[in-house]
Amino acid sequence: MNVSDIVTPRIEIDLGKIAHNAKTLNKLYGSKGISITGVTKVVCGDPKIADVLVKSGISILADSRIDNIWKMRKAGIQAQFLLQRTPIPSQTELVVRYTDVSLNTELSVIKGLSRSAVKQGITHKIILMVELGDLREGLLPSDLENTVKEIIILKGIEFIGVGTNLACFGGIEPDEEKMEYLSTIVKNIEEKFGLTLEFVSGGNSANYSWFISTKDIGKINNLRLGESIFLGCETLYRKHIPNLFTDAFTLITEVIESKIKPSVPYGNVHQDAFGNTPKFQDRGQIRRAILGVGLQDVLVSGLTPMLDIDILGASSDHIIVDAKQIELNVGNGVSFNLNYGALLSSMTSPYVIKKYK
Ligand SMILES: *Cc1c(COP(=O)(O)O)cnc(C)c1O
Repeated sequence: MNVSDIVTPRIEIDLGKIAHNAKTLNKLYGSKGISITGVTKVVCGDPKIADVLVKSGISILADSRIDNIWKMRKAGIQAQFLLQRTPIPSQTELVVRYTDVSLNTELSVIKGLSRSAVKQGITHKIILMVELGDLREGLLPSDLENTVKEIIILKGIEFIGVGTNLACFGGIEPDEEKMEYLSTIVKNIEEKFGLTLEFVSGGNSANYSWFISTKDIGKINNLRLGESIFLGCETLYRKHIPNLFTDAFTLITEVIESKIKPSVPYGNVHQDAFGNTPKFQDRGQIRRAILGVGLQDVLVSGLTPMLDIDILGASSDHIIVDAKQIELNVGNGVSFNLNYGALLSSMTSPYVIKKYK
């Protein structure tokens, strides 16, 4: 048996389920004329997963980090690569070298990209992000026109679109009103400058409810999707999207100790390993199982056990569970579903083995 079949902690990645989700979403959004950009940041630009997205009909891949984009390019993934975090000013040379398109909000940075592009003898494409209330990245709508005026004359820069991002920092819903407003902004810019923008990127996995209910998508012709492809849900209510798999990823861990012990620690209570003073519910004597996985491997609060057991807490290298009615013995495997934070952390952790099936 291959070592990675038997060693834990490991994350099992079902490429067939990811392909199914990507194709289903591509078809769904495509039915109203919206293209999908596949967002790979939560899987750290994993080339095997990126390959599946491309083979499922997604031709643009987006990531927040140049390292991830470089990794996908080096693996020979044939796609357009979009940098979706506003470029770090000291990285403009790298942005232009390794990405085709970037999302931008700062004129000084775009000027830097222009200088780098001219130096490298290439053209870099720009999508301007507009602030619509979520208060992470975005130009204020009132500043958009002046910025467009400045960037369309820059050498080495091609202005190809406008986008917005909601429901990430402020939890603001991409509703009908916000999407109509984005369309209006785009119409104004197109008329003012005599342009037709290739991309009007209306948002992310949180745009699902709007998409399903809207009668008119307006000018929106693209969405950037991560979580709904990988975890099969929208992100306003974390509702399952019909016909998608929610279990493409599973974390497998292993019991390293199992004993009947009290449910409340005894002795004088002080701070725990992370500076908190813990409180515990008295459940009497319980079967406490310790799993050989911890906060250095995964965001434990984002795990849901597939067995009827309760997570009591975790430290860097241990998760402690109440096994309840289940006879968990040393060496038994314990599997978990992951939310976005748990997926991000376990894909990022070098200690978690990635196993594809
Ligand atoms: C992460 C991110 C996305 C993807 O969000 P999901 O909720 O995973 O679909 C889209 N756009 C931007 C700018 C992002 O940072």
